[in-house]
Amino acid sequence: MNAPIRTESPELAPRCADPLDHLADRLFHEMGADGVYARTALYEDVVERLAALITRNREPNTEVMRFPPVMSRAQLEKSGYLKSFPNLLGCVCGLHGSEREINAAVSRFEAGGDWTASLSPADLVLSPAACYPVYPIAAARGRLPRGGLRFDVAADCFRREPSQHLDRLQSFRMREYVRIGTPDDVLDFRGRWMVKAQAIARDLGLAFRIDDASDPFFGRVGQMRAVSQKQQSLKFELLVPLRSEDKPTACMSFNYHQAHFGTTWGIQDANGEPAHTGCVAFGMDRLAVAMFHTHGTDLAAWPAGIREALGVAASASADGEGRR
Ligand code: 5GP
Ligand code: ZN
Repeated sequence: MNAPIRTESPELAPRCADPLDHLADRLFHEMGADGVYARTALYEDVVERLAALITRNREPNTEVMRFPPVMSRAQLEKSGYLKSFPNLLGCVCGLHGSEREINAAVSRFEAGGDWTASLSPADLVLSPAACYPVYPIAAARGRLPRGGLRFDVAADCFRREPSQHLDRLQSFRMREYVRIGTPDDVLDFRGRWMVKAQAIARDLGLAFRIDDASDPFFGRVGQMRAVSQKQQSLKFELLVPLRSEDKPTACMSFNYHQAHFGTTWGIQDANGEPAHTGCVAFGMDRLAVAMFHTHGTDLAAWPAGIREALGVAASASADGEGRR
């Protein structure tokens, strides 16, 4: 039975909490900044199991690469990121002056002043998506073999959009399958993955729908680009209703970049045409939050089929206690 709702005293009414807030204590530790969290063993275990499930679904002849959380600023600039999402970018900066200048900045800090005015940008940015570094690597190998290339990439990604919602992190993990080849190669790949991803979501017991989508391009010109992206069906998302049906959360995306990266990096397909590219992105942190939101925080109580899909032993709870 539900507890009766107290109405007699409005000042005692509970704060209108976000539907994901109840997960915070079991999954995360605060780190003093919105959208940046330390993760518990329970949470990390599920992230690893989801990653293994995605690996089991990898297509043959896929080359694995893991990227650090930073990438070349010049490469991201060349990729056109500043034209699309300048507001989301995090840039590494440091104290690059002489010993005297650096000491002066530290002294200002120690005297209670501002040291950050002395910072200058480094040649690195925080990676905003896992696939950006793979295109120049592919380009350096020369013309594509017939059949193109497939990659499995992952990185810790950063997007500067602080929020208190547990499904909007500033620092989150992204796993991607990337396809580089002819338009047919890429569209076939994306179509296959849109089917496969739905089977995975079903196996995980998630409520979801797939919808066409657009990226949050910056500014007014950006809004026009978003409309055109939708009209051309360049992006689809797998959406899970975490806080409402109206505003579901994108846990995976299926992207067709046409010849954008092929032209930018001079990647030629086997016919000598600019290569087309596409990627399927899995938001590992959003998928994990979606699992806990849907099935609760006691892994041992998750439905048997879902435990099986993730390889969770029937008798072990996440705290390591045996359960009968
Ligand atoms: P996209 O490049 O399509 O914007 O992002 C790919 C995937 O990364 C999304 O489908 C989502 O699962 C994940 N992602 C994007 N932004 C965030 C975010 O702010 N927080 C978290 N946890 N995941 C995100
Ligand atoms: Zn990508």
